[in-house]
Amino acid sequence: MSIKPARTRIAPSPTGHMHLGTARVALYDYLLAKKTGGQFILRIEDTDLKRTVPGAEQEIMDGLRWLGLQYDEGPDVGGPHGPYRQTERRDIYQHHAKILVDKGHAYPCFCTPDHLEKVRQEQMKRKENPHYDGTCRNLAPDEAAKRIANGKACTIRFKMPHEGATVAHDHLRGDITTENKQLNDYVILKTDGLPTYHLAAIVDDHEMEITHVMRGSEWLSTFPLHVNIIRAFGWEEPTWVHLSVFLKPSGKGKMSKREAAQAMKDGYSIFIKDMQDLGFTPEGVLNWSALMGWGVAEDDVMTVGQMVERFTIASLTPSPAAINFQKLDHFNATHIRLLTTADLAARLKHYFTCEGLNVNDDVLLKMIPLIRERLTTLDDCISFGAFFFKDEVAPVAEDLIAKGLDAKQSAEVARKAYQILEAQPDLSHERCEPPFREYVESSGFNAGQVFGILRVAVTGQKVSPPLFESMEIMGRDVCLRRLQHAIGMLEKM
Ligand code: GLU
Repeated sequence: MSIKPARTRIAPSPTGHMHLGTARVALYDYLLAKKTGGQFILRIEDTDLKRTVPGAEQEIMDGLRWLGLQYDEGPDVGGPHGPYRQTERRDIYQHHAKILVDKGHAYPCFCTPDHLEKVRQEQMKRKENPHYDGTCRNLAPDEAAKRIANGKACTIRFKMPHEGATVAHDHLRGDITTENKQLNDYVILKTDGLPTYHLAAIVDDHEMEITHVMRGSEWLSTFPLHVNIIRAFGWEEPTWVHLSVFLKPSGKGKMSKREAAQAMKDGYSIFIKDMQDLGFTPEGVLNWSALMGWGVAEDDVMTVGQMVERFTIASLTPSPAAINFQKLDHFNATHIRLLTTADLAARLKHYFTCEGLNVNDDVLLKMIPLIRERLTTLDDCISFGAFFFKDEVAPVAEDLIAKGLDAKQSAEVARKAYQILEAQPDLSHERCEPPFREYVESSGFNAGQVFGILRVAVTGQKVSPPLFESMEIMGRDVCLRRLQHAIGMLEKM
């Protein structure tokens, strides 16, 4: 059976930093489009001018590219259904609002914000849910036309049916039935001539031939409105998929600003740009977020290619998922192990360079096998491997004194280590390790003491990748120079 190519879209509002929720919907959109040979579209929903944040749109485009979710159509790549920025589609919405008014499905509303606020206060006092009171719903068309001709500002409201019920079908949740008397006459076109989400998204999804709308479950409350607007136009509905929400790690409620700040302190974030800076990989982030709402095994490691193979919208789940950053660590570390050495080298070089280090590419390729297994995030490479690229290391003097020894004894060990290394033509680890083992046997110092002093002297740190392999990569000259410096420090103590 051939599957019809899907056209999916991610439609973020540029109102802040791009977050995990947007990335996950974009991933599912991308997977469905790729799976069916269709298209994935980026549409910028920027009609709420007061909330638009400069730079947010660019951050979304950069974020999608970083994740590898390249869209087929969008503001910066164009496409046959453009423009893809809603503020550039004003005429299209005005035209469609007029169609609804002409068909009797919408009406101009002249109520002022003051009046609406008064009505709202009264409704609250009566313990009613705030809703439009219908003042302009039955205004005679010629009266409305007269007011417009006199320059009176108006919005356009959608005329919700009062009788009966609306049945809206969600692919994951089945039929959702709402009594129409519970529905409100929402504004679809504002006084500034720009549409609200309700009109803009519906018109665009139709004009852009979107077949599947995946979006957050926060849109369920206005879902009946959207279905009614589509039916008023007489259009075919897309397949609706309202995705689960993310809960904070405790599973109780949504992530607040305070919790997001705490996560950041712990080295985690729900914002894509931060995740990038914190050393997470797109592969790790995508695998982790994919499983929050997709009914596959919780620890399934998948590349995007494998996800495309396995993806079906029927396997998505509507139940909310708690954010678990330890799992993010797990997926990130796992994907780091799956990268080719050349790929990992290119990514780590960025972090070393940001740290102001001069990276020798040959050394970089050689040290990667020594640190790869230790990396949870890419920036861990700094603590494990910066010493490879430093001219000099700066060990803490006390760290050079081995446990159970004093400075004099430690200096003696360091001098002996120097002699051993100096006697080697090169520092291949096969060659270097045996004489040190012999020294441990004959000297009465234990291996921890000898190797500890040597490690701190040549790497500048107490914890390092395998010592002899590291020294082989650093080379004889660097190791001897660093040991000499450490001996000097110990002799002065
Ligand atoms: N602009 C809406 C948002 O950012 C998009 C919702 C949708 O995907 O339809 O929440």
